[in-house]
Amino acid sequence: MQHPTATWWAWNSLDPAGDGDSAAVSCFAGGPDARAALRVGDGVDEWLRALAALRPDLDLRAADAVLTDWSRDPWTRGGYSYVVAGTPPEAWAALQEPVGPLVLAGEYTAGPDSGTMEGAVISGVRAARTISG
Ligand SMILES: Cc1cc2nc3c(=O)[nH]c(=O)nc-3n(C[C@H](O)[C@H](O)[C@H](O)COP(=O)(O)OP(=O)(O)OC[C@H]3O[C@@H](n4cnc5c(N)ncnc54)[C@H](O)[C@@H]3O)c2cc1C
Repeated sequence: MQHPTATWWAWNSLDPAGDGDSAAVSCFAGGPDARAALRVGDGVDEWLRALAALRPDLDLRAADAVLTDWSRDPWTRGGYSYVVAGTPPEAWAALQEPVGPLVLAGEYTAGPDSGTMEGAVISGVRAARTISG
């Protein structure tokens, strides 16, 4: 369920993989404005309050909530990239070009597949082929 006015959403399983007994709800928020509105830096309380308002059908267990702020993880500093609408293909094609001995791999170099595991794997194969000739 997408929040009607803010850039975050929440989902729980409807049992497509037989996992309906997993009492879990996951949420994603993206961008500094969304994180600030949810007061992510202060912990889970504001987001839990907003989730309870969005999903009154859920019996939330606040003590079990886990919050990960990828932007504060020093080895990550963000979640994943996305291609802004209207970006010309040359922009990401340039990331696939070797710069001297340097070859970039990573989802952000995968153009239309960026932001995904698929893009990460495709980019790794492409970089390996570039290096091995
Ligand atoms: C919460 C979340 C949910 C997601 N869900 C999905 C999904 O359902 N489906 C999907 O397809 N994709 C999903 N993605 C996106 C997917 O996980 C990424 O696109 C993919 O993992 C990117 O792989 P990567 O190898 O390009 O980069 P990463 O997996 O980010 O790997 C980069 C590595 O480099 C390391 N590193 C960074 N800086 C340095 C440094 N200076 N020195 C040494 N190491 C360094 C990092 O620690 C990291 O291990 C999700 C991402 C997140 C964050």
